[in-house]
Amino acid sequence: MSSQASIAGVNVLGKSAEELREFMQALGEPAYRGAQIYHALYAERRFDFAAMTNLPAALRERLSREAAIALPQVVRRYHSADGTVRYVLAIGAGESGSAKAANIETVFMPEENRQTICISTQAGCAVDCRFCLTATLGLVRNLTAGEIVGQVLVALEDNRAALKPQTNIVLMGQGEPLLNYDAVMAALRILLDPNAISISPKHATLSTSGIVPSIERMAREKVRPKLAISLNASSDEQRDKIMPINRKYPLEKLLGACRNYPLRPWEHLTFEYVLLGGFNDSPDDARRVVKLLANLRAKVNLIPWNPGDLPYEKPDAKRVAEFRAILADKDLPAFVRDSRGQDVMAACGQLALAESAAAL
Ligand code: SF4
Repeated sequence: MSSQASIAGVNVLGKSAEELREFMQALGEPAYRGAQIYHALYAERRFDFAAMTNLPAALRERLSREAAIALPQVVRRYHSADGTVRYVLAIGAGESGSAKAANIETVFMPEENRQTICISTQAGCAVDCRFCLTATLGLVRNLTAGEIVGQVLVALEDNRAALKPQTNIVLMGQGEPLLNYDAVMAALRILLDPNAISISPKHATLSTSGIVPSIERMAREKVRPKLAISLNASSDEQRDKIMPINRKYPLEKLLGACRNYPLRPWEHLTFEYVLLGGFNDSPDDARRVVKLLANLRAKVNLIPWNPGDLPYEKPDAKRVAEFRAILADKDLPAFVRDSRGQDVMAACGQLALAESAAAL
């Protein structure tokens, strides 16, 4: 793998097939060489130009001098008892032109027939949800398309020997993906391209706190992942308290954008609801959620709060079951999600540790 410390040339990671064709032409090479690099880099995961044996030797040597593949660097791996691996990755350091160095987090979760990779889209986050540790970092900076794609490549490569046939990606790590719209969509076009990393759009989910104009923009994209909304409350008053973004895009606007969202025949919207003990987990909350989501093709993921550094309580197991039953009784599919990797702090809203803060 190319080391970030040695980056001198143009970073090709994150470039589209078209951009790579243009890059080759700028070097006086035939444009089709760009397509060959695109395939070697993303489909074959060759991270060293010398290993791109589909290119002539002279071009490989030239690229080694004049270009780079700036993969995020693994700073630490935390292995959970359930097989989850949480990576702390360094980005930015050493890149010419220089993006601010930062640490981000990526989580690899193996399952029986697939793996799910949770990726970050920003270093830190400005949205300030009260139940989220990432929020405590503030926004460090947006990630580039290459840094977003690079997280998936690093996680796949690091687990190459044990990969299952299906890969899922979830954009639920650090950051609000829809506040880094262009880089996120550029990354997704590579991640979901059958000629590149080839993840099915059915297996890719972008989770947002509810940035309404960007949801409307995403609705018009030709290539797009599934959409998940971080709901977490049953009224504006309640949501204002834990998600300040709700004051800008209140529930009526947010759910209006959801109603207008053009779902593909196989698709539904996912609503995530972190159950904070004694705050938003009552039967009345459940009934209000049913009303809010009426007439939407939707499912709800209920995420019992993991006690951590923040001042909320773990919800009572009986309350969680009752909440789920109220939704299910009204034909709103609801699932209680286990928080994988809790012992390495890889659970929802917990992607911010000392290393991240240290890089600020
Ligand atoms: S939950 Fe998501 S949007 Fe909210 S502060 Fe955390 S990272 Fe940002």
